[in-house]
Amino acid sequence: YLINQSVINVGGMIMDNEVKELLENLGILRDMYDDVRIVNPLKKKVVSKKDGQIIETDYTCYDFWGTGEICMNCISMRAHNDDKTYIKIEREANNIFMVTAIPISIENVRYVVETMKNVTKNMFYIEKGNAQEIEIYELIKGMNKMAHTDALTEVYNRRFIDERLPVELIKTIQKNSKLSLIMADIDFFKKVNDNYGHLAGDHVLKAFAKRLNGCLRNSKDWVARYGGEEFLICLLDADISEAYKVAERMRCEVESMIIKYNDLNLKVTASFGVAATSENNNSYKGLLESADAKLYESKNSGRNKVSY
Ligand code: GH3
Ligand code: MG
Ligand code: MG
Repeated sequence: YLINQSVINVGGMIMDNEVKELLENLGILRDMYDDVRIVNPLKKKVVSKKDGQIIETDYTCYDFWGTGEICMNCISMRAHNDDKTYIKIEREANNIFMVTAIPISIENVRYVVETMKNVTKNMFYIEKGNAQEIEIYELIKGMNKMAHTDALTEVYNRRFIDERLPVELIKTIQKNSKLSLIMADIDFFKKVNDNYGHLAGDHVLKAFAKRLNGCLRNSKDWVARYGGEEFLICLLDADISEAYKVAERMRCEVESMIIKYNDLNLKVTASFGVAATSENNNSYKGLLESADAKLYESKNSGRNKVSY
C-alpha cells in the first residue's frame, strides 16, 4: 500500500519508554500485520518522522479504505478519547481487515498506532462467489453501524458526537468556515410518559428524531441523540443565521406533527438552542455549553422556542 511508505520509523526521540519500545518494534509488527502506521485521529492524518520531528503526511487515514470518507466507526478516535486499545473488523473492497488502535503519547501529543491485518482467508474463509460472502459483508456493516447508532431512534448516538464533533471542528477551523450546533429538547416529555406510558414515550422519541433528521439540509449535516429526549444537530458550513433557520423549521415541523400511537393522536413541542463557532468559541466543550445555555433560555422563556 501507498500508506506503507509513509509509515513512521522513529528513532532517537525523547519519549515515553513504552512508546519508544513500541516504535522500535514497529518492524516486528510490520512482519505480523499487513500495515502498521501512526495516525493523528483528530486531524485524520497519517504521521511520519522527518529530521527527528513528527510530521503530518498528505495521507488521510481513511485513504486506506478507498471510500473517500471518514470512517463512521473510527476506533482510533475512541482509543484517543478513552486511552484504551480498541479492535474492529472492517471491509475494504473484497477484503476484510482486523484493525487495532493503540493510543500512544509522543511529547505530550496523543497519537494512535493502527495495525491492519487482512483476515479474509484466515478468519472468515471467504472465497469469491461463496454464498456466505454477502452475508458476512452485511454482518460487518451492521456491526460497525451499531457502534455509532442509537438503538431506539436510529440517529447517531452519544459516542458518535464525542468522536466526530472534535474532528468536524478542526476541519471547520482549517477551512476558515463556520459550524453550528442545535440542541433540541422535547417540552414536558415526562408528561407523555406519565399520561400514556413509556412505550408511547418511546414512539414519540422515534417520531421526533425522524422529523429532525428530515429537516437536515444535506447528507453532511447530522442528528445525534445526546441523551434522554435531548438531541444534537450538527450543521457544517452554517453560520448562526443559517442554523437559526434550520432550527425554526424543526420547531414548526415538530409543532405541526401528529404522532399516531395505537388509537392516540399525540402532539409535542420542543425547545431549541443554537450556537455557532466564533474566534473565541470553537472548542467542542465550549460550543456544546453555548448551545445548551441557549436551550435553557428557550425553556425559561415559555418553551416551543428557538434561542440563539
Ligand atoms: P422540559 O420541558 O423542562 O424539558 O420537561 P421534560 O418533562 O421534558 O423534562 P424532564 O427532564 O423532567 O424529563 C425528561 C423525561 O424523559 C424523563 C425521562 O423519564 C424521559 N426519558 C428519557 N429517556 C427516555 C426514553 O428512552 N424513553 C422514554 N419513554 N422516556 C425517556
Ligand atoms: Mg424535555
Ligand atoms: Mg431534557
